[in-house]
Amino acid sequence: MPRVIAVFDGHNDALTREDHAGLATGRTGGHLDLPRMRAGGIRGAIFAVFCWEGDAEDHGTPVPRDDGVLEFPLEPELGGELAAVQALAAAGRLLALERAGLVRVARGAADLAAARSGDGAAPPVAVLHLEGAEAIDPGLEALELWYAAGLRSLGPVWSRPNRFGHGVPFMWPSTPDTGPGLTEAGRRLVARCAQLGILVDTSHLNEAGFWEIAGMDVGPLVTSHTAAHSLCPATRNLTDAQLDAVGSSGGLVGIVFATPFLRPDYADDEDTPVSLIAEHARYVASRIGVEHVGLGSDFDGATIPRGVGDAAGMQGVLDALTDVGFSPAEVAAIAWENWERVLGAWWRD
Ligand SMILES: [Zn+2]
Repeated sequence: MPRVIAVFDGHNDALTREDHAGLATGRTGGHLDLPRMRAGGIRGAIFAVFCWEGDAEDHGTPVPRDDGVLEFPLEPELGGELAAVQALAAAGRLLALERAGLVRVARGAADLAAARSGDGAAPPVAVLHLEGAEAIDPGLEALELWYAAGLRSLGPVWSRPNRFGHGVPFMWPSTPDTGPGLTEAGRRLVARCAQLGILVDTSHLNEAGFWEIAGMDVGPLVTSHTAAHSLCPATRNLTDAQLDAVGSSGGLVGIVFATPFLRPDYADDEDTPVSLIAEHARYVASRIGVEHVGLGSDFDGATIPRGVGDAAGMQGVLDALTDVGFSPAEVAAIAWENWERVLGAWWRD
């Protein structure tokens, strides 16, 4: 039997799926649950808390504009109270798994090291992440409570506006420079996260927001689930200039498995070769160095290549990395070590 390489996956939406009840024991649909994490060698993952009004899996239908650009309808702002109730329930769901001994919620770097060096029988480590900070009040008082509960990663916005900034709308082909970035409250949120030791994730920000965070110089730039704009000109992807900034900050790009952000034609299509994930990893590594590449699947949040299938197929992604020329040491760095480094740089203990 081939050796299983420990994987840290930088983004999934399994906590906030409708059928989240099967997270511990396994479920028939979706991509990720604890049995399939184990099967895929995923010993650590960032679990997003994503709040939504209506059907969370339906982001509308893209409309072609006169100039040929595909544009999804702009998502409306989500009310803070609705978000807070949803987000607290989702966080409680993860803490219940921890209480049952099924996951280890990461509160410091030692939790990651233990999960990496464990024998695979130990519970996986879970990083609690807010994908869009709608559940946090403008005075940031709730952030203290969230930190105490285990929050160690936060993206100020999803692809919609909120009180902290303007998320990047889904468009193709288009520059990610789509409008204003963070608000004053958003800049305070980023600064406070850095003080507390909560990683700030730049996924779903437009260019203006990305550059504001880069300019604040609060930690290595991390974009947990995205890809290279040069290979697929979607607004969710990073331009070469943004990649360069990630590299010079010591940060990381978690390569997403979502097919629209991988394919040059933006197609939302399971029949997308797994090799495209490796091509984006290769591109980013060639430009800024393999130490700045990680994985960020977006399991349960996107259409992923049929060849990966679900979390159980993660080792196949590592094979694809090997096939494009990454050495065993480089594959191990992409699979786990780079994530451990950047999370450790942001965290306080
Ligand atoms: Zn996302």
